[in-house]
Amino acid sequence: MDVVTDIIAWKRDGHELDAERLTAFVGGVVAGSIPAYQASALLMAIVLRGLSPAETVDLCRAMVASGKTLDLSVIGRPVLDKHSSGGVGDKVTLVLAPLVAACGAVFGKMSGRGLGHTGGTLDKLESIPGFKVRLPQGEFLRQLERIGVAVVSQGERLVPADRILYALRDVTATVDSAGLIAASIMAKKIASGTAAIVLDLKVGDGAFMRTLDEARSLSRLCREIGAAFGRRVTCFFTAMDAPLGRAVGNRLEVEEAWDVLSGAGPDDVREVTLTLAGALLALSDLGVDETEGRRRAEAVLADGRAAGMFERWCLMQGGRWQPGVFNRLAGVEVKAPRAGYVTAIGAMDVGRAAQTAGAGRQKVDDDVDPAAGVVLARGVGDAVATGDLLATVFARDAARRSRAAEVLAGAFAIGDAPPPERALVMGRE
Ligand code: URA
Repeated sequence: MDVVTDIIAWKRDGHELDAERLTAFVGGVVAGSIPAYQASALLMAIVLRGLSPAETVDLCRAMVASGKTLDLSVIGRPVLDKHSSGGVGDKVTLVLAPLVAACGAVFGKMSGRGLGHTGGTLDKLESIPGFKVRLPQGEFLRQLERIGVAVVSQGERLVPADRILYALRDVTATVDSAGLIAASIMAKKIASGTAAIVLDLKVGDGAFMRTLDEARSLSRLCREIGAAFGRRVTCFFTAMDAPLGRAVGNRLEVEEAWDVLSGAGPDDVREVTLTLAGALLALSDLGVDETEGRRRAEAVLADGRAAGMFERWCLMQGGRWQPGVFNRLAGVEVKAPRAGYVTAIGAMDVGRAAQTAGAGRQKVDDDVDPAAGVVLARGVGDAVATGDLLATVFARDAARRSRAAEVLAGAFAIGDAPPPERALVMGRE
């Protein structure tokens, strides 16, 4: 076997890494025999040289093998899963999970926390008093059998390689590589044992991928990995230039998800959720196509079954869900500086404003404030008069409120004409 410097040099010089070299690398990183500086050097060589589909699959396989894997075959039915590549105001999982279960399929997901300007489903769920995201494996399985929905934190023992490599990538400017991102996302999905996965790949200002072409490269690699492991994968490309919906911040987003579950809520959140639901139900064992899947999803939103399933789900995981009942924070309003049309609401800036207000983290071990965040009063394309309310930022103390309001004000662009319409669902593969 090559020594580590040979593996680094091999990639640096533009050669393909085979399974043996990738396994040695991942194994060495997890065992601690490859120090961070060598791991980082190889990561940078990978970012600069890229990974072929075969290398990406082999890297993913080595990452999956670095820890435990979950066997969901005891459920006796395909367990469905969804992953978003990360956005601002993306509360789709909160609606989709109970919706899919209310349609009679099984939805089980291991989720993550928010970092930087993007939010994380676990933080949102934990804004419901008592909601437990750490469930022992047996309880996770029993809950899937009993009610068909569970969303939990990923156990420490699943894909330990990703925790180490991701932390290094974060501080060495090596996150941006389609191969590394695909292997990282899919290793966690493969290890958690789900049979079919819908990926919501976000494209735009507030996302990892700024262009549809970048998202397509990631989609191809993720589907390649899915095929290698016998998992069914459907990818959607959805716009993330502006936040999804009107609420950004943990409890504020749960409230908005509840509105959608109750048959109301913002159209964009509803549309992305129904699109993903149709695709997931078509991958289930219900024997429906996407059109029929979507029709059933619309029906359970309309007749209250999806909302009822959300309440059961919260109860099963210890959550005491009472819509509208939480400690509201003081807010600062951002007003329109001129008349015109809202031409853009930068997702990245809104995400940063919510993070500054206390809804997000700067570092992995920071606490989040469940009630902090932003509520948009206007959407892209709306006409405004000077002094109209654009958005409100909620934070625990005045200093945070005014810093966050400043960032939030910078998110809005106001022009003389409405912007051209932009597709929300930009494509699929
Ligand atoms: N999300 C992940 O899980 N991994 C990445 O590398 C990027 C986004």
